[in-house]
Amino acid sequence: MNQQAAQLRIEELCQQIHAHNSAYYTRIPTISDKDYDQLVTELKSLENAFPSLRNVASPTTKILGTPLSAFSSYPHQVPMLSLSNVYSFDELQSWAVSVEKLLDTQEVEYTCELKIDGLAISVLYEDGKLVRGVTRGDGIAGDDITQNIKTIENLPLQLSNPLSMEVRGEVYYSKMNFQKLNQRRQAMEEPLFKNPRNAAAGSLRLLDSTEVRRRNLDIFVYSLVSGSLEAGHFQGLEKLRQLGFPINPETRKYQALAEVMEFCQSWEQKKEQLPYEVDGVVIKINTLQQQNKLGATAKSPRWAIAFKFVAEQAFSRLLEVEIGVGRTGVLTPVAILEPVELNSTVVSRATLHNYDQVARLDLHIGDLVTLEKGGEIIPKVVAVDKEVRPRDAVRIEPPVACPSCNTLAIQIPGEVDWRCPNPQCKSQQLERILHFVSRKAMNIETIGPALVEQLLDKGLLHNVADLFRLKHEDLSQLDRMGDKSADNVLTGLEQSKNCQLYRFIYALGIRNVGEKSAKLLARHFQTLENLMNASIEKLHEIDEIGPIIAKSVYDFSRQPENQEIIQQCLNHGIVLQQETPPITDASPLSGKTIVITGTLSLSREIWKERLESVGAIVTNSVSKKTDYLLAGENAGSKLAKANKLNIPTVDENTIQQWINS
Ligand code: NAD
Repeated sequence: MNQQAAQLRIEELCQQIHAHNSAYYTRIPTISDKDYDQLVTELKSLENAFPSLRNVASPTTKILGTPLSAFSSYPHQVPMLSLSNVYSFDELQSWAVSVEKLLDTQEVEYTCELKIDGLAISVLYEDGKLVRGVTRGDGIAGDDITQNIKTIENLPLQLSNPLSMEVRGEVYYSKMNFQKLNQRRQAMEEPLFKNPRNAAAGSLRLLDSTEVRRRNLDIFVYSLVSGSLEAGHFQGLEKLRQLGFPINPETRKYQALAEVMEFCQSWEQKKEQLPYEVDGVVIKINTLQQQNKLGATAKSPRWAIAFKFVAEQAFSRLLEVEIGVGRTGVLTPVAILEPVELNSTVVSRATLHNYDQVARLDLHIGDLVTLEKGGEIIPKVVAVDKEVRPRDAVRIEPPVACPSCNTLAIQIPGEVDWRCPNPQCKSQQLERILHFVSRKAMNIETIGPALVEQLLDKGLLHNVADLFRLKHEDLSQLDRMGDKSADNVLTGLEQSKNCQLYRFIYALGIRNVGEKSAKLLARHFQTLENLMNASIEKLHEIDEIGPIIAKSVYDFSRQPENQEIIQQCLNHGIVLQQETPPITDASPLSGKTIVITGTLSLSREIWKERLESVGAIVTNSVSKKTDYLLAGENAGSKLAKANKLNIPTVDENTIQQWINS
C-alpha cells in the first residue's frame, strides 16, 4: 500500500472507530467487540508501517471512556490504563511467550479474574478513611465522583487499619438490580438503559447522590495500586479481602498456562449463571517485581491481558413478528429475520420472550437488531439500533387476537404474558397433547406433531383423554399411516397406561408445574384424588411449593372440564403408580458415554466440556459401550459404525435440551 492509500484508509478507520466509540459509550454497540478490535488492529499496523501518518488523537493511543461531565477533574497518581485484548488461545499463548521472553524466565505465575462489565474506578483512602473516588476518564485524569462512590454499600468508608492507599475496581450493576432499575424507569416513563455497563456509567455520573444510593450499585475491587507491601498481586487481593473489600470470589492463581485456558473456557460457558455480566477473563502476571520489569505501553500494561469472550453476535433486519401459541395460551412473539450467520449457523428466527421485552427494546418492523446466542441454542434479540430505523418502520404492539382461533387476547393483571383465553383453541390443544405424550410426561414416542395435527383436523381429538379412544380404523385412514404404524401408535398408548403418578401430574400440563414440582406433589399427596381435593393450605404445606404453584394446582383441580378429562383417562384404564423416583436435578446424560462427530456449530472442546459438566463421559471411538453419537453435518465413518451397532444418533439441539434439563 502506498502512502496516499494508507492515509485514506487511516482516515476511514479513525472515522469508523470514533463512530463505534460514540455508539458503544453512549448508546449500544453497532458492531461486535471482536470486529471493533480488528479495526483497531488494522489501524495500529498501518500506523506502524507509516509512522508519519499517526494522528495525536488516534484511538490506538488514547484511552477512551464516557465523555467528560459536570464533575471536577482529578489527576491519577498512576495512569489508569486500558487492557490489550485477545480472542483466542493462540493469541493468549503468543502473549505468554512474549512475557517469558521479556522476563527471560519461564517461571511465571498468573492470576485469573473475571472481567466484570462495568466501569473502572479509583478509590483513595487516607488514614483508613475513604477520601476520593475518581473515574478512569482519559487515563490521566478522571471525574471526581467521591459523593457517588460513597453510596456503594459494599465499599468500606472506613478501614479497620489507618492505611493510606489507592485501590481500583469495577463498579457494576447486578443483573437483578439492572432489571429493577429499568422496571422503575419504565413505570416513570423514563428512557430505559440499554445494558448494565451503560447504566453503571450513567448512574455514577448523576449529580444527585441520593438518587445514586437508590440505584444499588456494586463494586468488585481488583487491584491495590499503592500502599502494598505484598510480593504478589494475588496476595494483595487477599489483603484487601481481609480489610473488608469485595473481591471477586472466582479469582484464582495458576502456574501453568493450560490451567489459565481451562479457567477461561469454563467461564465462557458458565458466564450466564453469574448474577452479573462478564465479558472475559483478565489474566495478570502475579509477581509485582515481574510486573514492574514488564512495564506498560501508552495504552495498556504488558503484564496483563484480557481474554475476551466472543459475544456470539450478529446484526440483521427484523422482517416480521410471528406469534406462537403455547399450551396454556401464552402468546409468544418470535422475530423473523433476514437470514444471517451467527456462530456458524444461519439464523432466521429469534425469541423475543414476551411483549414487555418487545416494549423494552422499542422494537419496530424493519429495525436493525443485534442478535446474541447465550448459553441457549435459540438466539435472542438483545438490542435495536434506533439511529438507523427506517422512516416507515411500524411499532410492534401486543396482539389483539390469538393468531390461531381469533379470540381476543387478554393480559391478566400483574402478569407479563398476553394470552389466548380460549381452551378450545386448536394451537393450544395441539401443544397440550404434545406435552402430554412428551418424553418426561407419558413418553409415547409413536405420537408426534404431524399425527396430532391430522387427528385434530379430522375432529378425532379434542383433548388428551381422546387419545385413548382412538381405534385402528381412525388411524389407518390418515396420511402416511399404514397398518403397522397404526398398531405402533396403539401399542404406545396402551403401554403408557401403566404410569407413575408424577408423570401423569406433569403430563396434565398444569400451569407452573414442571417435572420437579410434579414429583413433590406426587410424593406428598400419594394419590391423584388427594391432590385434586387438596385445599390451598394443604398445598402450601409442601416446603418447595410456593403460592403461585399452589394456586395453579388448586384452580386447575376445581375446573369441571379438567376433572372430566382426568376421569375419562382413568376410565380408559390408566393406572397410576405411587412410587416417585428421587427428586434430583441429575442430568439424563449423567454416566452416559458419548462420541462426537461431524461439523457442529460449536467446537468439539466446548461440547466435551458441556457434556462433562453434566456427568457424561466423552470418548473418541464408537463401540458397543457408546450410549449416544452426537453427530453434526458430514459425519462419516463414526456415524456408519454407530448405525451398524444401533447406537442412537442425536443432534446438537437435542443434546443441549438434555443438558439444560
Ligand atoms: P476493556 O474494557 O477491554 O478493558 C479494560 C477494562 O476492563 C478496565 O478499564 C476495567 O474497567 C475492566 N476490568 C474489569 N474487570 C477487571 C479486572 N479484574 N482487572 C482489570 N480490569 C478489569 O478496555 P476499555 O478501554 O474499557 O474498552 C476498550 C474495549 O471496549 C475495546 O477493545 C473493545 O473490545 C470494546 N469496545 C467496543 C466497541 C464496539 O463498538 N463494539 C467500541 C468501543 C470499545
